[in-house]
Amino acid sequence: MAKFDFFPRTFFSSIISDDSVHGSMLRLVALLSLTIFTAEAVIMTILGYAGPDNKLIEGLIDSVLLTAAVFPVLYFFIVKNLENKNQALTDARERVRNTCDRLEQRVVERTRKLNRVVVRARSREHEMSVLGEVSHLFQTCRTFDEARDVAAKELPRLFSGASGALMMVNSDGSSLEKIAEWGDFRGFKEGCNMSKCPATFSKDQQRSKAKYGVSDCSQLMPSESAWNICLPMKSFGQAVGTLFLEAPRGMADGGKMDDQLVRGRTTFYQTVAESLSVSIANLRLREELEQQALRDPLTGLYNRRYLVDYLERELMRTAREALPLSIIMLDIDHFKRCNDTYGHDAGDTVLKELAAVLDEWTRGEDVVSRHGGEEFVVVLPGTDPETAMRRADVLREAVAALNLSHQGQELGQITISAGVATCPDLVKDKAALIRAADQAMYRSKQNGRNRVTLAADQTGGTSPSSDEQLLKLSA
Ligand code: GH3
Ligand code: MG
Ligand code: MG
Repeated sequence: MAKFDFFPRTFFSSIISDDSVHGSMLRLVALLSLTIFTAEAVIMTILGYAGPDNKLIEGLIDSVLLTAAVFPVLYFFIVKNLENKNQALTDARERVRNTCDRLEQRVVERTRKLNRVVVRARSREHEMSVLGEVSHLFQTCRTFDEARDVAAKELPRLFSGASGALMMVNSDGSSLEKIAEWGDFRGFKEGCNMSKCPATFSKDQQRSKAKYGVSDCSQLMPSESAWNICLPMKSFGQAVGTLFLEAPRGMADGGKMDDQLVRGRTTFYQTVAESLSVSIANLRLREELEQQALRDPLTGLYNRRYLVDYLERELMRTAREALPLSIIMLDIDHFKRCNDTYGHDAGDTVLKELAAVLDEWTRGEDVVSRHGGEEFVVVLPGTDPETAMRRADVLREAVAALNLSHQGQELGQITISAGVATCPDLVKDKAALIRAADQAMYRSKQNGRNRVTLAADQTGGTSPSSDEQLLKLSA
C-alpha cells in the first residue's frame, strides 16, 4: 500500500496510480477537496461578480486556504482511520492464512498417523486371525507329539522375524522341557533351570507380571545384539511353561521390530502365551484323564480295559508278521490270608511291590496289566510258549525270593501261580487266549500253587505242571 507523501510527484502519482484502498480513499479525499474548492470558487465568483466590490482574487485565495486546511483534517480523520482498519484487516487475513496453513499441516500429519494406525490395525487383524488358526490347530492336537509338530510349524507365523522356543513344565512339575524351537534361537547356557526363572515360577503373580517385557534372561546364551522376552504361561495360577522370543535389535517385522515395537506388542505376545497355556493345560488334562482311564491307580500298571484294546492290536500285528504272542496270567497265592493277617494296607504294599517287580522284569515291548484284584496279565509279543514258560518261571522264583515288609513288619514269603497261553499255536483270538491262560493258572492253583502251567490244547488234553513242562520243553 502506498504511503501518503507530501512530495508532490509521489503524492500525485499515488493519487492517480495507487489502486489500493488507501489510493481510493486518497482519490475520494482529493475529489472532495477539489469539489469544495470548485464549489467555493464558483460561489465566490458569483458573489464577486454580483457584489459591489469585486473581490474575486480574495475569494479564490480564501478557497485555496480553506481547502488546504480541510484536506489534512479529512486525510487524518478518514484516510488514516481507514488505513489503520485496512492494516488490521490485512493482519487478520495473514493470521487466518497462517492458521489455515497450520491446520492443513495438522490434517496431513493426522492422515499420515491414521494411515499408520490403519496399517497396524490390519496387521493386528491378520495376526489375530493367524492366532485363531494356530489356537484351533493346538486344540485339535490329541498328544504332545502332535502339539510339538504344530508349535514348530505354526508359531513362526505369529512372530515374524523373531526366533524362539516353547518350553513346557514336565508332568511332575520339576523341570522345563523344550517342546519346539524355531528360527535362529541361540538357546540356553546350561539348559533352562526352573528355579532361576522368576517370570515362570514366581509365586507372586504381580511380581512375575513385572518381569514381563523386554528383559535379559541370565540363562540364555549371551548376545549383544538381541532382545529377548520371556513370557510365562500359566493356567489357573499354575505354571505350565514359558515362551521365549528373541531377535536382533531393529530387526524387520515386515518392516521394523525394535525394542519400542516389542514393548508395544507385549500385549499381543501375552495373548499368544495365554492361548498356548490353555492348549497345553488342555492337553495335560486330556493326558491325565487318559492315564486315569487306562491305568490302575494303586499300582500304576495298565488296567484290563487297556489290555483288551492292546491285545487286539498286537494280535493283528503279530498275525501279520507271522509271530507268536504269549501271555502270562498270574495270581498271588493265599492273598486273602495276607490281608487278614497283616491288614489291607499291607496287602496294598504287596500289590505295589509285585507291580514294581513285574515292571522291572518286562522288556520294552512287553505290557503288564492289573487284570483285577490280585491277578495280573503280562503280554509277551513275539514270544513262543517255551520262552514264555521259562520267563514266567524266572518271575515266579523272583517273587518267591522277595522279602516284603510293611511299616517295619515282615510279611513273609509271597508266591504266585501262573498260566501261559500262546497265539496262534493254541488259540486264535484274544478272548480264547485269556480264557486259556486263566484255566492254566487255575490248574497251577489246583496242583499246589507257586507254579507255572502251560495252557492245554483247547481241543481237550490236560495241562502239564511247570516242572513237567519245563523238563519236556528242554528235552
Ligand atoms: P488263591 O491262592 O486261591 O488265589 O487265594 P486268594 O486268597 O489269593 O484268593 P481270594 O480270591 O480268596 O482272595 C483274593 C483277595 O484279594 C480278596 C480281596 O480282599 C483281596 N484284594 C483284591 N483287591 C485288593 C486290593 O486292591 N487290595 C488289597 N489289599 N486286597 C485286595
Ligand atoms: Mg489269589
Ligand atoms: Mg484271584
